[in-house]
Amino acid sequence: MSRVYNFSAGPAMLPEAVIKKASEEMLDWQGEGMSVMEMSHRGKAFMSIAAKAEADLRKLMAIPENYKVLFLQGGASTQFAMIPMNLLGDKKTADYINTGMWSKKAIAEAKRYCDVNVAATSEDNSFTTVPEFSSWNLNPDAAYVHYTPNETIGGVEFNYIPDTGDVPLIADMSSTILSREIDVSKFGIIYAGAQKNVGPAGLTLVIIREDLIGNAGDNVPAMLNYATHDKADSMYNTPPTYAWYLAGMVFEWVLNQGGLKAMAEINERKSAKLYDTIDSLDFYANPVEKQYRSWMNVPFTLKNADLDAKFLEEAAKLGLQTLKGHRSVGGMRASIYNAMPEAGVDTLVQFMKDFAQANS
Ligand code: PMP
Repeated sequence: MSRVYNFSAGPAMLPEAVIKKASEEMLDWQGEGMSVMEMSHRGKAFMSIAAKAEADLRKLMAIPENYKVLFLQGGASTQFAMIPMNLLGDKKTADYINTGMWSKKAIAEAKRYCDVNVAATSEDNSFTTVPEFSSWNLNPDAAYVHYTPNETIGGVEFNYIPDTGDVPLIADMSSTILSREIDVSKFGIIYAGAQKNVGPAGLTLVIIREDLIGNAGDNVPAMLNYATHDKADSMYNTPPTYAWYLAGMVFEWVLNQGGLKAMAEINERKSAKLYDTIDSLDFYANPVEKQYRSWMNVPFTLKNADLDAKFLEEAAKLGLQTLKGHRSVGGMRASIYNAMPEAGVDTLVQFMKDFAQANS
């Protein structure tokens, strides 16, 4: 059996070294005589796994001490609701930036709890760009500002961090976390579903500034209150132990690759190889304004969509899998998170060139 290059947007590829180590430790984790899946989350062995994972993530992202890291469930989609539930306090409104499908989902959920001010949108440009910060219409009374630094479907990524002053900045980093260095201190909350750049599905990371914890109303369910999870070190109920363990191994792997600076260099290079191929051949197209093209999700279309099925079929034969674009936009999408080897991108680039030549 050989492993393929899986370009899925999530669940996505995991580093092979991590999967190998997990398989070696599957039956007996370090002499405990059981797998991590079978361990009590309150036992010494799992507590050590959990603590190391958090310490490694803190090191990787240089997370300041006044931020808590929560290991939760419910996916990024649950955060769409937890954020207004926990942050509104006595405020009635929040600012949202609309740059695509995931922003829209966050906005729709927030509307259940507050007045949403869409302070900037790129919808008029079919979400192929990012609104310039100078054009944002921020409300000084907003409880927070929410944005999506990387839109997984549109392949649009912010190349700047907005400065929202005293209003906490909240970022859905599901598809960009760990892809490059970021200054955590600029954010109120960073959250991410794990299944792209962190680990398996089922785990959700929340990195939250301490003063934003403890402001939920009494009607907020315990499980949806950040304070509950903070007080219990993310063990109020049974956490997703196996996903936490695997995420910890991914953090260690990224550290061993040289950390986020090294990761960023590779990611920029990998994405440039794909965009250069798309731009240099008349056969393919990507509509996103160049400075806002995502390093992680590279959508592209074939100018002749009649060839889509043939492209996917021939790619799959070379072990290039899951390249079909999101159903809402069609075409192709190559998601190239940290665990996608550069050789996978090189193989795809060569195939794209060969396919264009054979079918022009
Ligand atoms: N936000 C972004 C940017 C995403 O890409 C996704 C998943 N594709 C989500 C939110 C939803 O995440 P989850 O499935 O973990 O709820």
